[in-house]
Amino acid sequence: MRKVYLDNAATTRMHEEVFAAMKPYLLEHYGNPSSIHSFGRQARKAVEDAREQVAAALGAEPREIVFTSGATEANNLAIRGIARAQKNKGNHLITSAVEHHAVLDTCKALAKEGFTVTVVPVDEYGMVDPAAVEAAITDQTILVSIMLANNEVGTINPIAEIGEICRKHNLIFHSDAVQGIGNIPVNVDNLKVDLLSLSAHKFYGPKGIGALYVRKGTKLDVFNFGGVQERKLRPGTENVPAIVGLGKAIELATSDLEAEAAKLRVLRDKLIKGLLAIEATKLNGHPEKRLPGNVNVSIQYIEGESLLLSLDLKGVAASSGSACTSGSLDPSHVLMAMGLDHQTAHGSLRLTLGRDNTEEDVDYVLEVLPEIVERLRAMSPIYTGNEIKRS
Ligand SMILES: *Cc1c(COP(=O)(O)O)cnc(C)c1O
Repeated sequence: MRKVYLDNAATTRMHEEVFAAMKPYLLEHYGNPSSIHSFGRQARKAVEDAREQVAAALGAEPREIVFTSGATEANNLAIRGIARAQKNKGNHLITSAVEHHAVLDTCKALAKEGFTVTVVPVDEYGMVDPAAVEAAITDQTILVSIMLANNEVGTINPIAEIGEICRKHNLIFHSDAVQGIGNIPVNVDNLKVDLLSLSAHKFYGPKGIGALYVRKGTKLDVFNFGGVQERKLRPGTENVPAIVGLGKAIELATSDLEAEAAKLRVLRDKLIKGLLAIEATKLNGHPEKRLPGNVNVSIQYIEGESLLLSLDLKGVAASSGSACTSGSLDPSHVLMAMGLDHQTAHGSLRLTLGRDNTEEDVDYVLEVLPEIVERLRAMSPIYTGNEIKRS
């Protein structure tokens, strides 16, 4: 049976060149970067080379890059680190309703510690309005955290405009840019961010490694102790092979970004067109300001979960809502924030394309999906067949 992986927003297959770059650091050059001997120096050099690769990709300086275990940790470090460091200036944070749980739950935890959090709403496409961010600012505001691109619906936010507003009000601005890297240009100066999170496994690198960009002069409180690594912001022996992999992955992802994105857009648009040809379906997310590989549709009178299982039986790996919430029956917080009703949100299907996908993959999905939809709708207690003619 054909295997079609269409869950690249959840994770990607490691690039062969990334694996090749990592392998010597797993088997031969295993020194601790903190050691003085040649083994240690070799590992140190690899870490610092990777730091340069990440910095170059973002238009940052190497010393502004802090390696973390991934974007969840980077988001925690950014938000908690600023909240604690700035608590004498104010206690108010601003974020959006469609953020990843790594941002939303960190803000919730801080709310329990006495911070107040404004969660700005989004429009029907899942986009944050810079004016809504500006309107939320008070004299107590210390941090704004808004994601670059949404992992569920692919909507790209006007980050540079929000960054401009933050500068005008002298506020620190963080952006979770995980979904942007390798898909759209990410430059910390153009985006006007002070902090930016990324994760290697979302752009064909290894899992369990990411980075936080920290603009020089931005002070973060630390909450892990016991070492001086990563300027004390992330103590503990560096994951050298993974860091090497991150460096290689970001170099590859940004070097051929335009060509890859153009290829993905063609596949994406063909997939969207084909899916919307099925009756009573709608596109979720922005029609244009959208990640090149993201497809998210709601298929009425169907449960996303049963759709996923049926697709899996046909070899197609997809997602409904977000990977983190599937398994729970709560509808996606992103789709709810966009104003979808429960039924439409539950019928959502996310297909995210990556560099391994081909037009044959798209054709295969468009071949198997209509039959699945028809079968599931036939079993649905809320579907009689008349709804579609009416709508
Ligand atoms: C995947 C993802 C994360 C979490 O990254 P990890 O490295 O897996 O912890 C955070 N934010 C967004 C937008 C993501 O897509």
